[in-house]
Amino acid sequence: MRYISGKTKLLGLIGWPVAHSLSPAMHNAAAAALNLDIVYLPLPVAPNQLEAAIHGLPALGFHGVNVTVPHKQAVIPYLHHTEPAAHAIGAVNTIKIESPISGRPTTVPRHTPPVLSGFNTDHSGFLADLQQQVIAVNGRDCVVLGAGGAARAVAYALARAGGRVRFYARRLVQARQLAADLQRHLPHAELEAAAWDELQETVTLPAPLIVNTTPVGMHPDEDVSPWPEHLAFPSNSHVYDLIYSPQETRLMQQAIAAGCGASNGLGMLLQQGALAFEIWTGIRPPLEAMANVLFGPVRR
Ligand code: NAP
Repeated sequence: MRYISGKTKLLGLIGWPVAHSLSPAMHNAAAAALNLDIVYLPLPVAPNQLEAAIHGLPALGFHGVNVTVPHKQAVIPYLHHTEPAAHAIGAVNTIKIESPISGRPTTVPRHTPPVLSGFNTDHSGFLADLQQQVIAVNGRDCVVLGAGGAARAVAYALARAGGRVRFYARRLVQARQLAADLQRHLPHAELEAAAWDELQETVTLPAPLIVNTTPVGMHPDEDVSPWPEHLAFPSNSHVYDLIYSPQETRLMQQAIAAGCGASNGLGMLLQQGALAFEIWTGIRPPLEAMANVLFGPVRR
């Protein structure tokens, strides 16, 4: 049994809402497994309170926070530094706070202003999970379904790893804008956008990686899939669904039935959390302890 005291380090999650989030359980499990005096709190922050909340974090002694929907983009103007990847993606999901209060008041002069640095561990967590599962990207066709926030991080990771990225989105203008935005930061990357009803053209691709970044198929709408039921899967493709609830989505079932590989978003969730934990503490947390507390033994 751990007790919170005046020495306990504070971490948290800023979002609106955050009550449903799995991050507090995941990070508190990591801290417990490492026997660290850390507590990770859900911090519901309404959009019109974001600036006040961010400015208050150093004063309250926080060492860092995760940032989730709808604040990942809006938080950037309130930070002192944004790492290049987060800048290119246009979203921050992890803030590290260095200040006289959250640091060591005895050794850091009181007048030292706090420094808030923004990171994006969604892209690096996604890539880490691909590597963990030995899913190749370099030189591979990568079909990204959707063009929202997660698609930005995923496409950045895939393009940096040498994948040829093609977004399919129901709003083609948004997808084209996303491809153009990323292209400015990654001039040598291959990035294209196509309309959702052109998805059938992917059938001829040799062994593509298909990544679902839409929420289609997420609990409680578990019987629907972003991939049309009548459309064949490109042979030897691998489907990576960012959804982790349910752990096996309808899209994954379609892929498995077609003899293709399939992964859920659990590995990305864990890896992005582990990378954030490492940014705050300098310690690589145990993934297994984090996964077990959420889902029991991991299924992929
Ligand atoms: P988002 O910014 O709202 O983007 C969602 C995208 O999906 C948009 O392009 C949206 O198109 C599209 N979309 C929604 N419904 C659709 C439909 N019926 N048919 C076709 N396209 C549809 O959301 P997000 O933050 O990117 O999150 C997307 C998903 O990724 C969520 O399920 C989230 O839980 C998951 N996620 C998982 C992880 C992880 O660690 N595993 C991390 C981040 C996100 P419109 O713009 O036209 O609506």
